[in-house]
Amino acid sequence: MNCKVGRQFLDAYLDGELEIEKRLELEQHLNECPDCQKLLEQQQKFRVFFNANAPFYTAPDDLRARVRTTLEAQVQKRKIILLFRQPWLYAAALLVISLWLAWPLLFPGRDRYLVYDAALDHSRAKLLGRLYDVNSADPDVVKDWLTAKLGFTPPVVRPSDPQFQMQGGRVGVVRDRKVAAVVYKKNQDLISLFVWPAGNKPLPEKDWSVSGYQACTWNAANSNFVAISTLSDHDLDVFIDQIRDQLK
Ligand SMILES: [Zn+2]
Repeated sequence: MNCKVGRQFLDAYLDGELEIEKRLELEQHLNECPDCQKLLEQQQKFRVFFNANAPFYTAPDDLRARVRTTLEAQVQKRKIILLFRQPWLYAAALLVISLWLAWPLLFPGRDRYLVYDAALDHSRAKLLGRLYDVNSADPDVVKDWLTAKLGFTPPVVRPSDPQFQMQGGRVGVVRDRKVAAVVYKKNQDLISLFVWPAGNKPLPEKDWSVSGYQACTWNAANSNFVAISTLSDHDLDVFIDQIRDQLK
């Protein structure tokens, strides 16, 4: 290290900001060069003098506050910029958005499967001519029969409007579980009303259209209900209103 280069580093050396390699080089030069050694001592003396005599002013509170606010804002901005420079953040955001979009495809509503199963059970029973295994218009008879077959007591009611005739009941299968299926009729239209205990999975109140059937799901009296029929929307609504009235 020569004098010219060495003198450039004197300030940083005195501030203790010189990296270790440069510092060792400079110290070696200072040992060999009395001129630079002298310059260093002069600078040291000046610093001591300056520190002892320079006037010191306290910044007014509002200036101090403004400086602090500006600095903090800069730090926050920098933090945010740094955050957005992280590629993983984009990857994570993309994954969340993709999952959200794909969710209905990956996990189609279990409720829809329930309704499909119910429609399938109704359709199969109709084709086999076995819509009801107990043939009665008496809700108590149908309820007792179903209770004996199922191990739970389904709510069985008869609509007050005589145009909906109760036919009887059978054991249906929905999502691999035995459920009560109570059968009603209006003219040539048949209705299978599936019922089972809701547990902690209550069905939403919703109208469906599956496999050519009108369907409706709801939850009442701690039970899940799925009505499957070829009734018109309006007639199915009337039927369900009547069932719900009777359940109260
Ligand atoms: Zn020198």
